[in-house]
Amino acid sequence: MFIDLSVVPDGTDITGAICIVGAGAAGITLARELNGSGLTCVLLESGGTEFDSRTQQLYAGDNVGRPFPDLTTCRLRYFGGTTNHWSGWCLPLDAIDFEMRKGLPYRGWPLGRFGFYRWYRRAQEVCQIGSFDYAPEHWGVVQTKLPAPFRGPHFVPRIAQLSPPTRFRSAYGAELQSSSNITVYLQANACRFETNDAGSEVESLLVRTLSGSSFKVNAKVFVVAAGGIENARLLLASGATEGQGVGDGRDLIGRFLAHICFWAGLLAVADPPSDFYFDPGYFRTYEIGGVSRTFVPFVGLSEETMRQRQLPNIKLLWKYETPGASTAGGKLTHLHSILHDIEGRPEHVNSKVFRREGVPVTGPKLFLNLEPVPNPDSRIRLSEKRDAIGMRKVAVDWRVTAEDKRNGTTILKLLGAEVARTGFGRLRSFLEDGDDAKWPVDMYGDQHTWEPPACTATRRSA
Ligand SMILES: Cc1cc2nc3c(=O)[nH]c(=O)nc-3n(C[C@H](O)[C@H](O)[C@H](O)COP(=O)(O)OP(=O)(O)OC[C@H]3O[C@@H](n4cnc5c(N)ncnc54)[C@H](O)[C@@H]3O)c2cc1C
Repeated sequence: MFIDLSVVPDGTDITGAICIVGAGAAGITLARELNGSGLTCVLLESGGTEFDSRTQQLYAGDNVGRPFPDLTTCRLRYFGGTTNHWSGWCLPLDAIDFEMRKGLPYRGWPLGRFGFYRWYRRAQEVCQIGSFDYAPEHWGVVQTKLPAPFRGPHFVPRIAQLSPPTRFRSAYGAELQSSSNITVYLQANACRFETNDAGSEVESLLVRTLSGSSFKVNAKVFVVAAGGIENARLLLASGATEGQGVGDGRDLIGRFLAHICFWAGLLAVADPPSDFYFDPGYFRTYEIGGVSRTFVPFVGLSEETMRQRQLPNIKLLWKYETPGASTAGGKLTHLHSILHDIEGRPEHVNSKVFRREGVPVTGPKLFLNLEPVPNPDSRIRLSEKRDAIGMRKVAVDWRVTAEDKRNGTTILKLLGAEVARTGFGRLRSFLEDGDDAKWPVDMYGDQHTWEPPACTATRRSA
């Protein structure tokens, strides 16, 4: 059943065995698991069933660190959450992501990846994708046909599966609407968990509507599923007194923010084939069991190389540039001189290097998604400003470190060496040596937070 909380009399108490805050990917999935269980479940959603700019503005906050995506546009605040515009890339965490690793403090999990597999298989169904199989060779990627730098030992082919992408609102809304034990409250903004005096136990949840009503939700179990940034905001804003925080005994909530994304360099190919065969970042289809499935290839680092060289995980994509097309930050303007640097290959510069399947290209431009070194100072705080329901806004303080820069530089140098060693061409890196704080101007962080195992929050990865 769906109930619009703004028409419920002010002050009405709401009670359930379980209360879930947020009807996005996580909240809807959990509510569906509880559907038919006999447990009364309250699912609180800030928005309605359609986008509404007043509700969306409740996401507004300040970016006080490095430039970070606009907080009011990178997430969506209505039933279905950010799945209303997510892209649908799906892939599991790698074995190495679970490991504590030398040189990478705060990293690792006390859980093995196998504990996740059962749930990953279920998640495949939820996201309407095929079997839990991410081996590139099972998706028609033939090792011997790959461009030489990406056949290992350092850089290897990887694939992500593509969800349609599932819009959780249209895919699962009706199921929750007809549920006898789930009640979805729309226009219901969770503002603060109220605790006992010791701050050790949550007693109730204060909920407000934009129309000015207040409600108290009582439940045995509360689940926070309001998205990475809002989860931290809500927990930090809670407590016996406002702003004391709940569940933050180790001062970890809201820390370890964001992955690093940037246009990292340009590949000038010495003797280009008419078809590169492996196009990281470009959607492909492959028939499995008579069904055509969509996937997207990308380049990763091999686990051995990550371990031996103490490097973080990456996702490397590329994009073919056409002459005359606008370029990110004008980075391609020196391409001609780069190509002339390829010893003994000037004829290819003039004839074949710009060609791919008959379409002129100026060479693949590389996009790097780099796992950051876990940094507790890269974080979400509460600002002193308040939103329309009186809740303190977020201040996002996204930071990167000299070590992140060193990792990015090392990975690009390694790629450059592989590209040269295999005779594939040359790499021009956009990461300049020297100033540790200097990154490409178009670098940005995505909105994921990572919280270490000591904390109960979840880790997600695109
Ligand atoms: C443009 C874009 C593309 C993306 N593409 C991918 C991709 O390809 N692959 C991938 O894995 N991930 C992708 N993501 C990330 C993915 O969408 C999120 O990781 C995922 O939606 C997170 O699910 P969630 O349930 O934690 O949060 P959300 O889906 O954001 O849901 C949170 C819900 O909580 C509600 N809410 C917030 N605050 C409150 C409150 N105080 N009270 C009540 N309700 C509240 C919101 O209205 C919302 O409905 C993308 C994100 C963006 C922005």
